[in-house]
Amino acid sequence: MKYVWLLLSVVLLVAVGCQKENKEAATKQAPAKAALDITADMLAVSVDPNCGMDMRKAAIKDTTVYHGKLYGFCSAGCKKAFLKNPEAKLAKLNTQ
Ligand SMILES: [Zn+2]
Repeated sequence: MKYVWLLLSVVLLVAVGCQKENKEAATKQAPAKAALDITADMLAVSVDPNCGMDMRKAAIKDTTVYHGKLYGFCSAGCKKAFLKNPEAKLAKLNTQ
């Protein structure tokens, strides 16, 4: 009887493992659609520091380097808004 449970748990583990792989493959394909040749992995933070959008899911339309760190934005408007007061935007980001 113990053997049956062992077999069941192995099957379950394999099934969960496959689901994980599928999800990872789906997220890896997303950055390929980005307008710029930049992926979220290259950014200092994985979100748009202005609006908080997840840049791993959204297309990176604009970027800026602030204090030697690369930040990505969902639009040129977000970049503009961020550059008006970058310290405040980054402080807000750190408290989230
Ligand atoms: Zn944005």
